[in-house]
Amino acid sequence: MSSVWKDMVIRSTANDVCTTRLILKEKFSDQIGILRAQPLCTRRGSTVCRGSRIRAHRRMEAQAILSPVSDPTPATDKKRVFTFGKGRTEGNKGMKSLLGGKGANLAEMASIGLSVPPGFTISTEACQEYQQNGKHLPQGLWEEILEGLKIVETDMGAFLGDPSKPLLLSVRSGAAISMPGMMDTVLNLGLNDEVAAGLASKSGERFAYDSYRRFLDMFGDVVLGISHSKFEEKLEKMKQRKGIKLDMELTASDLKELVEEYKDVYVQVIGEKFPSDPKKQLELAIKAVFDSWDSPRAKKYRSINNITGLKGTAVNIQSMVFGNMGNTSGTGVLFTRNPSTGEKKLYGEFLINAQGEDVVAGIRTPEDLDTMKKCMPKAYKELVENCEILEAHYKDMMDIEFTVQEERLWMLQCRAGKRTGKGAVKIAVDMVNEGLINSHTAVKMVEPQHLDQLLHPQFEDPSSYKDSVIAKGLPASPGAAVGQVVFDADNAEAWHAQGKSCILVRTETSPEDVGGMHAAVGILTARGGMTSHAAVVARGWGKCCVSGCSEIRVNDSEKVVVIGEKVIQEGDWISLNGSTGEVILGKQPLVPPAMTGELEIFMSWADNIRRIKVMANADTPDDALAARKNGAQGIGLCRTEHMFFASDERIKAVRKMIMAVTTEQRKAALDLLLPYQRSDFEGIFRAMDGLPVTIRLLDPPLHEFLPEGEIDEIVEGLTADTGMSADEVHSRIEKLSEVNPMLGFRGCRLGISYPELTEMQVRAIFQAAISLTNQGIKVFPEIMVPLIGTPEELSHQVSLVRGVAKKVFSEWGTTLTYKVGTMIEIPRAALVADEIAKEAEFFSFGTNDLTQMTFGYSRDDVGKFLPIYLSQGILQNDPFEVLDQRGVGQLIKMATESGRAARPSLKVGICGEHGGEPSSVAFFAKAGLDYVSCSPFRVPIARLAAAQVAV
Ligand code: PEP
Ligand code: MG
Repeated sequence: MSSVWKDMVIRSTANDVCTTRLILKEKFSDQIGILRAQPLCTRRGSTVCRGSRIRAHRRMEAQAILSPVSDPTPATDKKRVFTFGKGRTEGNKGMKSLLGGKGANLAEMASIGLSVPPGFTISTEACQEYQQNGKHLPQGLWEEILEGLKIVETDMGAFLGDPSKPLLLSVRSGAAISMPGMMDTVLNLGLNDEVAAGLASKSGERFAYDSYRRFLDMFGDVVLGISHSKFEEKLEKMKQRKGIKLDMELTASDLKELVEEYKDVYVQVIGEKFPSDPKKQLELAIKAVFDSWDSPRAKKYRSINNITGLKGTAVNIQSMVFGNMGNTSGTGVLFTRNPSTGEKKLYGEFLINAQGEDVVAGIRTPEDLDTMKKCMPKAYKELVENCEILEAHYKDMMDIEFTVQEERLWMLQCRAGKRTGKGAVKIAVDMVNEGLINSHTAVKMVEPQHLDQLLHPQFEDPSSYKDSVIAKGLPASPGAAVGQVVFDADNAEAWHAQGKSCILVRTETSPEDVGGMHAAVGILTARGGMTSHAAVVARGWGKCCVSGCSEIRVNDSEKVVVIGEKVIQEGDWISLNGSTGEVILGKQPLVPPAMTGELEIFMSWADNIRRIKVMANADTPDDALAARKNGAQGIGLCRTEHMFFASDERIKAVRKMIMAVTTEQRKAALDLLLPYQRSDFEGIFRAMDGLPVTIRLLDPPLHEFLPEGEIDEIVEGLTADTGMSADEVHSRIEKLSEVNPMLGFRGCRLGISYPELTEMQVRAIFQAAISLTNQGIKVFPEIMVPLIGTPEELSHQVSLVRGVAKKVFSEWGTTLTYKVGTMIEIPRAALVADEIAKEAEFFSFGTNDLTQMTFGYSRDDVGKFLPIYLSQGILQNDPFEVLDQRGVGQLIKMATESGRAARPSLKVGICGEHGGEPSSVAFFAKAGLDYVSCSPFRVPIARLAAAQVAV
């Protein structure tokens, strides 16, 4: 099967660790100082391994490989080789960690009676032993492999290396988690001069020598590090000599000649003859697959996708079946439903008289499955039946590879098919409606990241850019992307690290490009179909992709794309519509998508199941409306400081307040701010009619309102506004500057030092609340005091809040129900939570600061060392992204328990960035918190994660 087709599936749970920060950064790019947004996360591991480097490395190893070394490990009792064949199997689908996904599912398909070419799987544990054993096969394993081989030979009535009854094998990798194209595969193994002659007499000369030259090429490249191009050169020269264009036009005797030339390549490049002993070939191929687990590109892929804790790759050795034995043979791949849209219809591609590589070579374009239905109705009927059997058995949409050899259908692989967010939701809802699964199972079938895809932006008005469409390719992965053109994966990574949005434009992508593909906001390729590498990888990540855009010509060396008369340079802006395949010149405006139809039904199931509430972090009426649309059950955090940046007048008033030397001056400045705050609170209360709104008192260090780069301008403005001299302003600014602002004059320390500040904010909140209540809006204000470390700090602010409330109520001749609580962000607060709970009606864990202070890692500077920590495995995750359950989580659990012991009615939630991260949400739900609060875009993700943990 071709590598393109093998790559059909990509682990779609790839954790887009940068999402939150990117959203923050995009949303508040002009307010980044006040947000204290963390630096963009640097991708783990920056080395991109180029094929040539792998090959060079392999060549060096080839010498050593060809002369086996004796093995020092003791024999083990553990079973390491598991055989399978129709109706007989030693494994099952539950054994993925031992047999890899491919091996476990081959065993399962065989056990339910589907036609699977007989074979055996060498376990992942054997791979681990091999790695630990200095890359030698562990003792006894070879004998077990030979036992497995014997069973396959008996099943097939054919024998490895026997010219009269030749058995050819495929040797494929297969880890517990799919890593498409990252590890090695060898096909047609077992051929040598004698076996090829034997095969020729049974199946025809052309077929035999075509298989032989393919094997020599693949084995040399994959196992011995001889570049594929060395073989390709010979092939091209021969075609030139013969005056032909297509490989298919080569005759049997041409191919025979080519085989001799390919054998010479071995001697020329590695100074050794091609190993003609089939058992030796098998041993070397198995080792190559084991070695590929450890290759730089596989390691990089695992690091990008957060794949940890696996033992290694399994090796699947199967009898070859051939799709290239004439017009009654063929090969194909399919999904049992459309993976992009979820439509219930087989979705796949088929090639008559072909092996998978023919698709990669680009010689022939695959056709749809109707071709197979017409040409091979019997095999097609069996395939359709198998799809139904597999869906009913796995209760999921499946991704299947198959081959037809002389009208006989063989199932080569099956696994749960990866799908887009849209597809995932539709499939889950349809399967419930079809009675195949219940709503609880459906909720488990959609990954939280799938929803992330559904929430990706779309173009504001697709009709408006029609005149700017410069090319059209295949709509390979839905969504919209806007970015600057970049031509190679390394540059894409570098640009991403500089905070640029880029679109990776390639003739086609390969697994070595994954780092750059991940870093890009969108991918455009000139070649490749809907199942090409770029398409599959992008779909898995929910990244916009247009593939097979044949109108474009990519010139990597000159760094230009040529489309007709147009020449696009590196750095030019383009936009992609992954849902239509359109390539558009320039930057097109994007809008966030809506939640409708199946998604609404699906989310209602999730909401019925979950117990923990999901609130949103929103600072403006617009954010609040977006949050509500996404299903937020209230506002868990309104950062009031963000309101100060909404206009020049506001920021001027804030700066006056900061500059004030006397209380009177400060009060005068605060009086200017009050109406702004009140009107914003009114907007938020209105948007959240009937739901609680938690408003946090001012939190950030004051100097953040005086960004360094703008100081001259600020000083000029302030001297004009306040009558202070420039020197006075400078000296006041100097006084505000701090060595450790994150541990400095911020949080409740501001409100305690300047009570008039708290008074103004509280007054604005209650005036807004009463005014809206009078208009019939249901308002539930909750006032939250930030950065508490001692109960005394809280009690100071609580009595201030309650005092102001009383005054406002009496001024307005009314009263309101409200709560006063605190954030738990300082470890000390968590340790004395019982005392703090006596003063607080609610706790909201500020896990951003709590993580900062528990680890002692500055939120602003963690980017300097975090990538090193991640690449060296000192940390498994960025703790600002994924909650550190062992440390920070323990503080949360402890504080929740002791807080509730002191005040049983205590409401407990979390409002740090972890509130929208699925594994952290699961932790908070299990810890018994009442709610999580996250950014409006992540609300649906949190709702689903909360439901999944409840199931
Ligand atoms: C927190 O610290 O988790 C929090 C929500 O507050 P901020 O990020 O505004 O410091
Ligand atoms: Mg905080």
